[in-house]
Amino acid sequence: MKKIMIDLDETIVMDGYLKALNDYKHTNYKAEDIDSYFVEDILSSEEKEKFLDYFYDELNIYDTIKEVPNAIKTIKKLSEYYDIYICAAFVDERRVEKSKVMAMYKYEWIVKNLPFINPKKIILGSAKDIIMCDIKIDDKVSNLKNGYGEVKLLLDHRHNQKFDFEDLESLNIRRVYNWEQIESILLEGCEKE
Ligand SMILES: [Mg+2]
Repeated sequence: MKKIMIDLDETIVMDGYLKALNDYKHTNYKAEDIDSYFVEDILSSEEKEKFLDYFYDELNIYDTIKEVPNAIKTIKKLSEYYDIYICAAFVDERRVEKSKVMAMYKYEWIVKNLPFINPKKIILGSAKDIIMCDIKIDDKVSNLKNGYGEVKLLLDHRHNQKFDFEDLESLNIRRVYNWEQIESILLEGCEKE
């Protein structure tokens, strides 16, 4: 079986960080309103520090996080044909000590919501570019940049718009827009075999 590495945030779940920011600021930002990877980059540096304290001390965004439409059922289908690894980064260099809670929250969410994934295939780690596998699915270009992976799918997101088709083609990365498209790319071939 071919191995697939699937990212968690903004690939399987979405808008957790955005909701945290909106709840904290009493605002109603939408994903498309913010260009940067970290939504809190719209805050002043002083406000950002306070937000990060709130984020790490008082919140578990995975309690109320939304699923990217059709992610879970598609991963379940894929798991019949592929060896699936869920790979979630958790180290925040701005809060190294406190980052450990994110490892726990993410692990708990994956175990609860993706019960068909062998827990031994949950990888909590931030250096995703060293991971060798056949297929990678992620919303962050730097996680897909290395030479490993014959198929690299970038889930379209506000923060990765700066990479155009040529940029991605030179890295052997294909932009995809939803999980229906991922399913057709990865399962059509399988069913024919
Ligand atoms: Mg991600």
